[in-house]
Amino acid sequence: MTARIIDGKAIAADLRGKVKDAVHRLLRDRGLVPGLAVVLVGRNPASEVYVRNKSKAVNESGMRPFDQRLPETVDEAELLALIAQFNADPAVNGILVQLPLPPRIDQQKIIAAIDPAKDVDGFHPLNAGRLASGLPGLAPCTPLACILLAKTVHASLASMEAVVIGRSNIVGKPVAQLLLAENATVTVAHSKTRDLPAVCRRADLLIAAIGRPEMIRGDWIKPGATVIDVGINRVAGEGGKPRIVGDVAYAEAAKVAGALTPVPGGVGPMTIACLLLNTLRVACAQMGLPAPNI
Ligand code: NAP
Repeated sequence: MTARIIDGKAIAADLRGKVKDAVHRLLRDRGLVPGLAVVLVGRNPASEVYVRNKSKAVNESGMRPFDQRLPETVDEAELLALIAQFNADPAVNGILVQLPLPPRIDQQKIIAAIDPAKDVDGFHPLNAGRLASGLPGLAPCTPLACILLAKTVHASLASMEAVVIGRSNIVGKPVAQLLLAENATVTVAHSKTRDLPAVCRRADLLIAAIGRPEMIRGDWIKPGATVIDVGINRVAGEGGKPRIVGDVAYAEAAKVAGALTPVPGGVGPMTIACLLLNTLRVACAQMGLPAPNI
């Protein structure tokens, strides 16, 4: 079998186009422009790339960016003050603080300081709780991206045997909640899981969010399964040149899986498209408008 490659770039471009159209209609019909504040602390090279890509996407969508770059030395009180300022600013509809933060800063405290109504990353405990309780709320962008990509292969995820590897608050746990909401049967595996290859082989839908380069081998995958690879790992390529690989051994998996996301070009671009979608959603809610029909 040769897997169908799930083209995250093209699917994301389609979603971004729909968001852009909706933003254009908001401006044309109501004179409103959604605003997104992206806060980057320090000079983590990976975070700088992510923030650059997010800012570019915000600009292209017609939304208003409120980017803030703060030095590594910024203290917690200053960051909290900036968040309070964005919380109070009606022109800022969404707030995203790029993680990880320097270890001196209490990440949970910063996340909890964001107005839950503006929490486009969906990491605020209130939004995480709403997701876990099956209440409407903001789903984190990467987990939402995984679900939307899986749904380009399967119209419904109901009754599928889904295995999520990873239980972080950012990816593993929320993606498991979203899968439950889709009526999949969900197993969440982690570093203490016994016989991980056997657990993976049960999966009709396998979502890898581990952060270990190419750990999932071809013979861990059930023939015909759909595989969503969230991992972004920098490894030394030919001649020592760095390259990005996922958590799944791509060439092996492509021979066994039914469908597979590439890295790069899979979950990454779709995550950014979902950030725009979340920003549009919160903006409509704050403006008292119905949710966008996307
Ligand atoms: P994380 O917080 O480090 O969590 C990793 C998870 O993987 C943990 O639950 C850990 O288990 C589990 N794990 C680690 N080693 C394992 C092993 N040998 N066997 C089984 N499970 C193992 O990472 P994260 O933030 O969720 O991110 C995961 C990956 O996704 C990273 O590569 C990250 O760069 C990438 N990512 C991509 C996007 C995107 O937009 N594409 C967004 C976010 C993250 P324990 O809990 O037991 O330690």
